[in-house]
Amino acid sequence: MVKLYLAIPCYNEEEVLRDSAEKLKNKYEQMMSEHKITFDSKIVFIDDGSKDKTWSIIRELHEENDVFQGIKLSRNRGHQNALLCGLMTLKDEADAVISIDADLQDDINTFDEMISKYEEGCDVVYGVRSKRETDTFFKRFTAEAFYKILNRMGAKVIFNHADFRLMSRRALEAFSQYKETNIFLRGMVPLIGYKSDIVTYERFERLAGESKYPLKKMLALAWEGMTSMSIQPIRIITWSGLIIFIISLAMIIYSVVRFFIGATVSGWASTLCSIWALGGLQLLAIGIIGEYIGKIYLETKRRPRFIVEEYLKD
Ligand code: UDP
Ligand code: MG
Repeated sequence: MVKLYLAIPCYNEEEVLRDSAEKLKNKYEQMMSEHKITFDSKIVFIDDGSKDKTWSIIRELHEENDVFQGIKLSRNRGHQNALLCGLMTLKDEADAVISIDADLQDDINTFDEMISKYEEGCDVVYGVRSKRETDTFFKRFTAEAFYKILNRMGAKVIFNHADFRLMSRRALEAFSQYKETNIFLRGMVPLIGYKSDIVTYERFERLAGESKYPLKKMLALAWEGMTSMSIQPIRIITWSGLIIFIISLAMIIYSVVRFFIGATVSGWASTLCSIWALGGLQLLAIGIIGEYIGKIYLETKRRPRFIVEEYLKD
């Protein structure tokens, strides 16, 4: 039997929270009666500084039934940090922790399979979506492109896996040694190693409420993923610099030849073009380098990645 904890980040989830809690509780009761999980397994909500009634609902749930626990972050830190807080707070309590979103778009009946993989000796079990029918074309296209680009860039993310996964205590212990501030969990977890496996499931629509991941946050996550997992963008700059240098050598030879032939009247267009092209490239390059320097800056500060304000434990 596994002492299983669930880590569920919640941001303004008052509309779905009660519903989700009910479903999870039923699932837990079923797994307990089948002796898959221990009776002291818990369902833990992490309130990521919500502005609505989320925290008071979590408090009520905790008072009603001690299977529910709550962790309140001091302010909104974003999904990744909230989840990290959950994983790091629970790693000393549980044998294994499953992370799942509050809207239960990921199928909770996958828990059983995850647990049996865990019992077969896997330290990490990734939930992988079998299809993306419930997504709009746009979301599907951008999401799949994102996984492909990331893999090309050298970050080994699991295709179509978001943050629905089981991690053993040993894996969490190892993960706690990753101290970086810029976190992209689904790219970092595979770095741990140990035995892992995947389980596939179908993803549902959100139970209620709106997505807390609008396009802006999705782009931010994609950018975060790319720049914190890979130095490929810097390589691209180096290569394009080299190529431009070779082209400019050819241009120099060309203009010297033109000079000796005596045809050096015009040149306005090419001068202007190269000023623009090079200026643009330089700015882009400086911008990307700045991005990494920004990250180094943040990392050297060693700021806490989350601060727990309250922990509803016993
Ligand atoms: N979330 C969070 N902090 C944020 C934004 C989102 O903790 O700043 C949580 C949210 O409550 C949910 C999960 O992250 O449990 C995923 O969000 P959502 O379901 O809205 O994303 P989508 O499924 O649309 O990608
Ligand atoms: Mg969702």
